[in-house]
Amino acid sequence: MDTTSRIQPSYARIAGADAWETYLAQIERVAPLLPKGLTRYIDTLRQPKRCLVVDVPIRLDSGEYAHFEGYRVQHNLSRGPGKGGLRYHPDVSLPEVMALAGWMTVKNAVVNLPYGGAKGGVRVAPDSLSRAELERLTRRYASEIAVLLGPDRDVPAPDVGTDEQVMAWIMDTYSIGAGSTVLGVVTGKPVSMGGSLGRHDATGRGVVRIASEALARLGGSIAGARIAIQGFGNVGEAAARLFVRGGARIVALQDHTGSIASDAGLDVTAAKQRRDAGAALADTPGAQRIDAESFWRTPCDILVPAALEGQLTAARAEALACRLVVEGANGPTTPAADDVLRRRGIPVVPDVVANAGGVTVSYFEWVQDFSSFFWSESDVNANLERILGEAFRAVWDLHLERKVPLRTAAYVIGCTRVLEAHAVRGLYP
Ligand code: NAD
Repeated sequence: MDTTSRIQPSYARIAGADAWETYLAQIERVAPLLPKGLTRYIDTLRQPKRCLVVDVPIRLDSGEYAHFEGYRVQHNLSRGPGKGGLRYHPDVSLPEVMALAGWMTVKNAVVNLPYGGAKGGVRVAPDSLSRAELERLTRRYASEIAVLLGPDRDVPAPDVGTDEQVMAWIMDTYSIGAGSTVLGVVTGKPVSMGGSLGRHDATGRGVVRIASEALARLGGSIAGARIAIQGFGNVGEAAARLFVRGGARIVALQDHTGSIASDAGLDVTAAKQRRDAGAALADTPGAQRIDAESFWRTPCDILVPAALEGQLTAARAEALACRLVVEGANGPTTPAADDVLRRRGIPVVPDVVANAGGVTVSYFEWVQDFSSFFWSESDVNANLERILGEAFRAVWDLHLERKVPLRTAAYVIGCTRVLEAHAVRGLYP
């Protein structure tokens, strides 16, 4: 095998620049609305505090070597340790990870968690590696970025292409370096090894809870609602399952293998079985195959983009036939699409509150790891629903009071908290 084919430096093709530009555009939109005394600090949100780019060499099963590019970005640490996921995807790049870290800064502040914002990534197609290669990649990446990590410094969690097993390997690698088991260095771990009950479904559960709150304010309810979901991974699958449990119908689903629809409601369990067997979503029994653009035109009450950033473009926003967008993914809606949806009167519940369920239960996991006292799943879910409900209400009320979109309202709350922390801490030296 030609190992050089696996070297894909980010500077060869700056994928992800759009995501960082989207983040910056969102900061520009909120800037005029922030308290006057704080705007002098706003540059702290316009750039990451710290970016680490690492080479991750591994030995392949064949005995040859391959190199992958990895990143860890700490966007802002004013409110506490860095917190944010780790993404394994062939298109990961430094600007994309910067954007994802920026969104974590705002999200953790909107939900009022005691964290700054961070994110990590490795430019790799995880499916192209064997399990043993994936473990070697994860352990080498963890050791390369260990200088930044720690329960009180920076705490990764799963994101696209990573899971509980990857978190367990990172925890173990870090612990070997520390000479003792350090559970709180990552969240989203297996429940058998310091993980929290309820973490797996937490992001999807939060999406459903927030969707229910928002739809109620538009005079609707989840029972009987028609839902379309892009992405059928950790977030999309859990949201689909919990929407159905709440009495909704999933009328369209899209993942990287294709798009399906059913007016009567898709069989989400069958779709998950197809996915877990490695089969295409389009083969789900009872589902009608549709093309990718028809997915966006499906008449529904709620559209949930839960795949990658930049998916909901202005052109797709013009075509939507929904009452409400609830962002399961990070950064799925471009600023131009935001403008179209505002003109069309379709509210968008932004990622920084809609998908905050994952990091909220990650926070619970971190607290449980510190105290070595583990909560029941009902306690986890009750606290999750309370915290997200409070965050959503604050965003909704501010959006009515200031007559601004929900995203802008969320950014006013989040950015104000970050800049207040920055102001009271002062500038060193
Ligand atoms: P995942 O890897 O489990 O699933 C990603 C899904 O997106 C898969 O179903 C995949 O097929 C689909 N997808 C990928 N490319 C696509 C394309 N071009 N068109 C349609 N579908 C495509 O990832 P995840 O953890 O579910 O994360 C999804 C999104 O949610 C990301 O934006 C992530 O940052 C965000 N998010 C995740 C969490 C979490 O706890 N996992 C928390 C907050 C936000």
